[in-house]
Amino acid sequence: MAGKILEGKSLALTIKEKIKAEIGQLRSRHNAVPRLVSVEVGANPASEVYLRSQRKNAENLGIEYRLEKLPKETTEDELIRTLDKLNKDKSINGIMIQMPLPSQINAKSISRHIDPLKDVEAVHPQNMGEIVFGNAKILPCTAAACMELLDSIEGLDLYGKEVVVVGHSEIVGKPLALLLLNKFATTSVCHIATGERGRLSEFVKNAEIVIVAVGKAGLVKGEWIKEGAIVIDVGINRVEGKLVGDVEFAKAQERASYITPVPGGVGPLTVAMLMKNLVEAYKLQINHHSCPN
Ligand code: NAP
Repeated sequence: MAGKILEGKSLALTIKEKIKAEIGQLRSRHNAVPRLVSVEVGANPASEVYLRSQRKNAENLGIEYRLEKLPKETTEDELIRTLDKLNKDKSINGIMIQMPLPSQINAKSISRHIDPLKDVEAVHPQNMGEIVFGNAKILPCTAAACMELLDSIEGLDLYGKEVVVVGHSEIVGKPLALLLLNKFATTSVCHIATGERGRLSEFVKNAEIVIVAVGKAGLVKGEWIKEGAIVIDVGINRVEGKLVGDVEFAKAQERASYITPVPGGVGPLTVAMLMKNLVEAYKLQINHHSCPN
């Protein structure tokens, strides 16, 4: 029997309804709406769709959204000064930086310059570190989106489940592996070296849950999927003008119990998680400012 489609769109709508209601309550209690600033250095056509989606989602939820555009020649020091200004501005609750950044800016070190309380993508080392201790209030959006999808499967208990995460990037694979470990899933992480040793298929074949975040169309073959496994495909690839994931969808669906589509799976939830983080950041800032220390 074909695996059920694990649909992100409807789940995202339900989550956004809750966010909207919470924003309404915060507005009447504090007489202010959450404000999000997205910083983009240079114009990047690949970011346009995501930026449009950020603005649309924010506006629909009653969030004030601003895109701060900086010229492509902006130096690292200039970007840090912009971030400092946004950090100090009490009317701004969330800051995010669009990737990729031009080569003169070190993308890895710049994340340290966002106030952790305003870091809606959870890229600051402090927020990443909180995941290790299971204390994180703001989670990396795509990793959180994968967890929401798993959470939506009725009766699924991650305790002791054998999970493989393919891809170990800082924004998806690594934090996701920690979130799964925090739920006591038996978690393996595969990366380029696993592939180079020809061991990827073995890990995937043994997994009850397969999560792939690489960016290579067809990397995970349908026949590798264990009968009844859950498959979450984070990958986004354009092949012959169409968007596809990293997993051979049709063949994988024949074996899986649940599988996410691309597009319409993880993507819509990632944006919802960003907005959820903004509300969380807003509440953290209110608590922080009302605290005497
Ligand atoms: P990334 O930073 O390029 O990371 C890709 C990861 O895959 C790296 O850890 C890399 O390992 C690993 N890898 C490369 N080739 C491999 C192979 N043959 N076997 C196993 N692992 C391999 O990418 P990312 O930002 O995590 O994004 C991954 C994909 O998810 C992309 O397609 C991106 O567009 C998509 N994405 C989707 C969403 C969404 O909302 N749906 C959000 C974010 C990203 P090494 O570092 O060792 O080379």
